[in-house]
Amino acid sequence: MALVDGVVNMAQEQSEDEICEKTEGWTREDVGKRIPERKTPNGTYFNEPIVNVFCQFCGSEFIGPSREAGGFLGGHECLHAWEITQAMGRDDGMVE
Ligand SMILES: [Zn+2]
Repeated sequence: MALVDGVVNMAQEQSEDEICEKTEGWTREDVGKRIPERKTPNGTYFNEPIVNVFCQFCGSEFIGPSREAGGFLGGHECLHAWEITQAMGRDDGMVE
C-alpha cells in the first residue's frame, strides 16, 4: 500500500477565508480572517485580510486590516528614520 499520510487536501486552499464581521477591536483570533466590507471616512474597503505585524525597530505590534497594517509599518518607518536623523544631527552638534 502506498498511502501517504502527508498529503494535504488542496481543496482547503481554495475554500473561502473565514469572515470577520468586526469593523474594529480585532484580536489575535481574527488574524487570517477577511473583512468583507469596511466603511471609513476615506473610502470603503472590501475583502481585506486581517494581519498581525510588528515594528522591528521598537517592537510595537498591530492587529488589523492590511491597509492599516501598511500605515502602521510606514508610520513607524518614518518615525524611526526621523529619530535616526535627529540622533545623527545631535552627535554632530555635540562636538565642542
Ligand atoms: Zn516602531
